[in-house]
Amino acid sequence: MEATNRVAPTAKTPALILESDEDSMAKVVLSLHQGLLVAFPTETVYGLGADAGNEEAVASIFAAKGRPSYNPLIIHVKDLATAQLYGHFDHHALKLAAHFWPGPLTLVVPRLDNIPLSPLVSAGLSTIALRVPANKIAGALLEAFDGPVAAPSANRSGLLSPTEAEHVEEMLGDQVSLILDGGPCEGGIESTIIGFEGNIPVLLRPGILPVEQVEAIIGIRLQMPLKDAEPSAIPFVVTAPGQLTSHYAPRAHLRLNAVSAFEGELMLAFGPDAPKGQPGVNLSPVGDLAEAAANLYAYLHLLDDTGVETIAVMPIPQEGVGVAINDRLNRAAAPRPVGSNGNEQS
Ligand code: AMP
Ligand code: MG
Repeated sequence: MEATNRVAPTAKTPALILESDEDSMAKVVLSLHQGLLVAFPTETVYGLGADAGNEEAVASIFAAKGRPSYNPLIIHVKDLATAQLYGHFDHHALKLAAHFWPGPLTLVVPRLDNIPLSPLVSAGLSTIALRVPANKIAGALLEAFDGPVAAPSANRSGLLSPTEAEHVEEMLGDQVSLILDGGPCEGGIESTIIGFEGNIPVLLRPGILPVEQVEAIIGIRLQMPLKDAEPSAIPFVVTAPGQLTSHYAPRAHLRLNAVSAFEGELMLAFGPDAPKGQPGVNLSPVGDLAEAAANLYAYLHLLDDTGVETIAVMPIPQEGVGVAINDRLNRAAAPRPVGSNGNEQS
């Protein structure tokens, strides 16, 4: 092996993953003001943040993720009063925000006119998605920056969402100026998204906050979005497995409703009835859906990193947060268009 022209390693590249302290918070704020991308933990998954008022910075989110420009972003703010600077909250929206914020609920409300936010965040729609995250580090970041932060999940479009700082580094390490480390996300699945058709609340995406809890607060059943709703809502309207949009997908294929692993497969098990002695991991040996949600993406990352071709997934009860887990598993298992990661959601 020739070893000419080898350059001795020089200064180490600065660490991308930072413990969250005052010093790193100051760096985040500076990066955001400079129009750079930062990654930070929330109680759902890690977010890829940019100053929502900076058109170029917001555009770079779409570029970094490979996200289609018609897919709008969630704007993270520090409190409801700030959210009301950008969107109109009717009585249902106010009730939900008052009860669940800070928390894993995103509200899609009519966008106010002439707000100082990049039009890209709404992808040209007349609505805006707003959320006040509960995670302490995310809250401190929003306080320190004192402005709206556009932040989708910090993954490449269509691939597994990140629930640990290392997941972000692996997928987007070359795109972000820094990654704030908050350890594994406690929720582990994206926020529940509620929109409004007129004043009827509709479920745009099941998430970590169970629908039953939302319905209990507003006192009515959530509707599913109309088929002819705005384009961003359409991928959520799934009436048959064939219509599923591939998303949240590992490299490996997923075989759903498996009772055991076939030769060469690894098992993503759930609950105490999992077959014994099978290679793989159990999302929650005691059968706790919240624990399963928190482990879902991390375990999919783990199994995928082995290079296995197929992951056999046990059935998950379709109740509470199980609805969101099954939504993600169904999308991860959906057929993928050849030659692309082929996803409309990210
Ligand atoms: P992510 O932050 O990557 O989990 O994705 C945010 C989700 O919010 C996407 O699925 C978007 O389609 C959805 N979203 C954001 N803004 C709107 C909006 N104005 N109308 C409908 N859906 C939205
Ligand atoms: Mg996402």
